Formats: sequence, C-alpha cells, structure tokens
Amino acid sequence: MPFLLLHPHALLLALIRQSVWLLLLAIVFMPLEQVFALRGRKLFSKTLASDIGFYFISGLVPSLLFTPPLLLIAAAAHAVLPYRLFAEIAALPLWARATAALVVSEIGFYWGHRWSHEIPFLWRFHSLHHHPTEIYFLVSARAHPVDNAFIRLCGLIPVYALGIATPLTPSGGALAALLVVLLTMWGFVIHANVRWRLGPLEWLIATPGFHHWHHTLREPRDRNYASTLPCMDWIFGTLHLPRNEWPTAYGIDAKLPDSLGGQLLYPLRPAPAEPTLSDPIAADPR
Ligand SMILES: [Zn+2]
Ligand SMILES: [Zn+2]
Repeated sequence: MPFLLLHPHALLLALIRQSVWLLLLAIVFMPLEQVFALRGRKLFSKTLASDIGFYFISGLVPSLLFTPPLLLIAAAAHAVLPYRLFAEIAALPLWARATAALVVSEIGFYWGHRWSHEIPFLWRFHSLHHHPTEIYFLVSARAHPVDNAFIRLCGLIPVYALGIATPLTPSGGALAALLVVLLTMWGFVIHANVRWRLGPLEWLIATPGFHHWHHTLREPRDRNYASTLPCMDWIFGTLHLPRNEWPTAYGIDAKLPDSLGGQLLYPLRPAPAEPTLSDPIAADPR
C-alpha cells in the first residue's frame, strides 16, 4: 500500500527496489541504444542527474497521489452502479478483461495526455516531460508527480470504476498492477534512442518511431498522444506517423530551470504574461 511508503523501512525498501529496476533498465537499454542508436549522444549527458532524480520521484510519489482517489472512486462506483454489471465483467475470461483493461485505460490515458497539452495549467506540469532536447529511455520517467498522477488517474479511473481491474478483488488488483507495470515498461521502450520501426504494424502498437514524433520541436506538434495503441490517435484525429521519417529536433521553446528542484517548482510559479498579437512568437507556448 502506498501509505506504507511513509514508514522509513518501507521507503528504504522502495528506494532499493527502484535502484534495482534502474540497474536492470540500464543493463537492457544502454547496449540497445548503442547498437541501434537513432542519434549519437553522450552517455553521461548534462540532464542525467535530473533524469535520475525524476526517475526516483516518478516511482515513489505519484502512487501516493493517485491511489487514494482511485480507491474512493472504485468504492463509489461499486455502490452506485448496478451489481449485475460488475458480476458480468467479473465473469469474463481473464484475456477478455485484460484486453478491455488495456483498451479502456488507453482511452483515458489518451485524453488525460491530450488535456495536459491543451489546458495551459496542466501544460505547465507536463512541459517538464517535453523539455529534453535528446530522447532516450530515461526520459519516460521525467515527469512532474502531479502530471504523472493526473494522466494515470485519467487512465485508471474508468478501469477501476467499471470493475475491469480493481483492487477490490484479488484478480482485479493483480490485473491493475500488471497493467501499470506493462505500461511503465513500454514507456521506456517508446522513448528509447533506437531506430526501430514496425512498418505496417505501427498503427497497432506504439514504437519509438511513433512516440518520438510526440516530442518534436517543430510542426506537426501535439500529435501521437497514445501510450500503447496508436489507433487511438487515428480515431481522435491526431495521428502523425510518416514512414521512415523522424523528427529533426526535440524539446520546447520555453526555457525551464536546469536544476531538478527548479523544474519541480516551475509549474507552481506565476504563469508568464499572456502573449499579445504583436508578439507572434510568444503566442505559441511550446
Ligand atoms: Zn506529451
Ligand atoms: Zn514522452
């Protein structure tokens, strides 16, 4: 349970677990990013320290923020929605529930992510994820805890509320945990600095080729919001997936603080003045 993280021993165990995962991720991705490198980049970049800082924050803090409302919503939905609905969903075979959990959560993730771009208040938090000018596997964990919690809530609320994967039942709790692990792992894959493409199957499953376009500095921006299923972008009109093409530059126009602490505080500071028509460059916040 996330509240147990407040206990020093539990926090220490969580830190050790995060460290072991980081080591495993480095063992897997660092050689792959050398052999299949999309772009040459220094192993020890100037953002590495803050990237690792965000990695630990992303692994420890968001669950403290999103688990209590999720449990409340799951309990409220069970009290309000007809029992028959939950009984029929619970009776589905595991593969059907797992598929439903993936599709339903992906719709939520898509819209949570899209709102994080379209709503200026949310963009201030999400812009931290888009700040890097080099994309590699660890950029996946580079997110403000509020941004991380908001997008995860959007994805998990419908899954929990419908009882497809809910901690209120043992198998539902395992399915929800599996979903979060799978999506977290896939996040590292789609950010990796590798030139992998899947040809005609790229509309089916998100790849680095798909998600790198989401980080493009130049137009077309605000595309490819899905985390695993690019068909969501096709359905909602935001897909950009040219064959064999990659963005020429990554990042955002806004200048963010360099330090980890400065970036964590950045969204909480007063927003910059509204752009005016006489200031066309400032009119675009990204
Ligand atoms: Zn984004
Ligand atoms: Zn990303």
